[in-house]
Amino acid sequence: MILKEVIFADWDVSPSIVAFSTIRLGGVSESPFASFNLATHVGDDLYRVESNRALLKELLPQQLEWQWLDQVHGDAVAVVNKAGPALAADAMLTTRENLVCCVQTADCLPLFVAAVDGTEVAVIHAGWKGLVSGVIENTILRMSTSASSLAVHLGPSIGPCHFEVGAEVRDCFLAAAGSASLVLATQACFVCSKNPEKYMADLYAIASLKLSSLGIDKVSGGDYCTHCDDDKFFSYRRDGVTGRMLNAIYIEA
Ligand SMILES: [Zn+2]
Repeated sequence: MILKEVIFADWDVSPSIVAFSTIRLGGVSESPFASFNLATHVGDDLYRVESNRALLKELLPQQLEWQWLDQVHGDAVAVVNKAGPALAADAMLTTRENLVCCVQTADCLPLFVAAVDGTEVAVIHAGWKGLVSGVIENTILRMSTSASSLAVHLGPSIGPCHFEVGAEVRDCFLAAAGSASLVLATQACFVCSKNPEKYMADLYAIASLKLSSLGIDKVSGGDYCTHCDDDKFFSYRRDGVTGRMLNAIYIEA
């Protein structure tokens, strides 16, 4: 029943790739974590979080192993061959079957990455700090698959309708852009807000620009705003204390 309510990545890759984002419905956590919170670090009752994780695992093949991250808004990538305790990183990749790569989000951008032939997968947690520091570039460069054989699906994040940032955030991105043409393209990802010295930032567009620069042209997703859709999504910007959605990818054996 819950699985009907997750959002599967809609992309053109091998059917052996399973990638989905959970929504906030269908769990046992109470407000402000109601109800399908999957994160242990946000102040929710740990028994309820474990119950939610168990609900999800029951609906998926039992032989799956789950690898979680302690996300720190950095650029570290974990290369994983077997599941273990949570790793301090903001991205993870594997070539192993049945190993579920997990990141948790509530506004930050989750990216699913897959070799189109189904041999390698990755997942990335990209907030603005991670995007500036190069977490996408680091992940793609660590993968064995060439960029032309990778596809990327952008999971639910806060949209440009709601992600207001200061001029200093935009300046960080402009300073990190490698060429005059990239500076221009990056500027286009920030639209003046109605508030002075503020901009509305488009995480989907920033990520797409980076992927294009890396030679990845198979990019899909970017269809949601977690802040707009209170019924479906947790949003840190909207609610402060709140739960996290899970973004999971694995290669089915
Ligand atoms: Zn919005």
